[in-house]
Amino acid sequence: MTHERALDERSFPAAERVRLMEASSTMAVLQAAERLRAAGLRVLDLGAGEPDFPTPEHIKEAARRALAEDFTRYTPAAGITELRAAIARFLNERFGSTYTPGQVIATAGGKQAIFNAVVTLIEPGDEVLIPAPYWVTFPQVVTFAGGRSRFIPTEENDFRLTAEMVSAAVTPRTKLLILNSPCNPTGRVISPGEFQRIVGWAVERGLYVISDECYREFVYPPHESFSAAALPEALRARVLIVGSFSKTYAMTGWRIGYAVGPEAWIREMIKVQSHSTSNPTSIAQKAAVEALTGPQESVVRMLQEYQRRREFLLAALNRIPGIRCVEPEGAFYVFPDVRELMRARDIPTSKDLEARLLEECQIALTAGSAFGAEGYVRISYAASREVLREAVTRLDQFARAGR
Ligand code: PLP
Repeated sequence: MTHERALDERSFPAAERVRLMEASSTMAVLQAAERLRAAGLRVLDLGAGEPDFPTPEHIKEAARRALAEDFTRYTPAAGITELRAAIARFLNERFGSTYTPGQVIATAGGKQAIFNAVVTLIEPGDEVLIPAPYWVTFPQVVTFAGGRSRFIPTEENDFRLTAEMVSAAVTPRTKLLILNSPCNPTGRVISPGEFQRIVGWAVERGLYVISDECYREFVYPPHESFSAAALPEALRARVLIVGSFSKTYAMTGWRIGYAVGPEAWIREMIKVQSHSTSNPTSIAQKAAVEALTGPQESVVRMLQEYQRRREFLLAALNRIPGIRCVEPEGAFYVFPDVRELMRARDIPTSKDLEARLLEECQIALTAGSAFGAEGYVRISYAASREVLREAVTRLDQFARAGR
């Protein structure tokens, strides 16, 4: 037997911090859907957390220009100054902050920004507060860093996080709080007033805060787009903003995002990045500069389309027996309560429901348990209206079959 074969999945001595991590459950749904597609079935994909729109033409043109000009070499680890300055300016002009390019790091997506931020701060045994339901990656990165996730349940309060809930969860080991507004998976938006109260309280107790703002631009009226950049400077001194081009500009595959915050934290993150991925792709960085400084009409158009889909989906889901859906205020997900449907169809867990919907209706969505909330499912409406209409019809038939 070769040495490589001996090191198969079971015998490979993976480091404990990696063994403790779980593979992405959203990816697992995608793979299962792919299998059905390969067998010739028409799968309705409501699992994807990515826009179904193409990247706007003027952004692609900037990338083509970068290629034509041979802008294809290593860049500084933190990203090109032009991009760092554009990110700082974008936040400063919108939210009245005073960030400098030195307080910005460009990363290979918001995900790498979160990874860099957590591993530079968290020591083994440190606790990280994560409101639940949460984006699947947060606790996994905390585990990788040797930290412990402490979840703050928000279900009882219609998924609304308050400063009091955060206050009740803190312990002497708590070092970091991760906020995500608009939230993946619930679509909840924390109001500016509550946001400031939460951060004010956390800072007073010496915590650091990550504000994941990857869905910042997708907020539905009457709610307004908000950023931690709008907080008073004394609070911002302990807050790291994570942003992404993936959702806002339909650029998921380009792998470009950023973090903005205290210079000392950013400096440590640059150190980590310089020894892992070096720098985000040079061409994607030029495209990102154009995304921020060029016309923003495409963002407005996408938001309007998401809003129309959201309205259709909410009304349609709430007509299905056993499904109760509260109105999401941002992002492009709904997170309906399906407990009654599960009871009616004798389905024990949301994971089982996920599997049955895929097998019997060819609908791919994600079980709430993946996000820390049993009895719910996440449905992405970053899918065409035609797909949404068909999915709702199939869901309705599935729900009524048990009555
Ligand atoms: N944060 C949240 C809440 C997300 O849902 C995602 C992607 O799904 C990300 C961060 C990271 O996105 P990206 O790495 O593509 O910028």
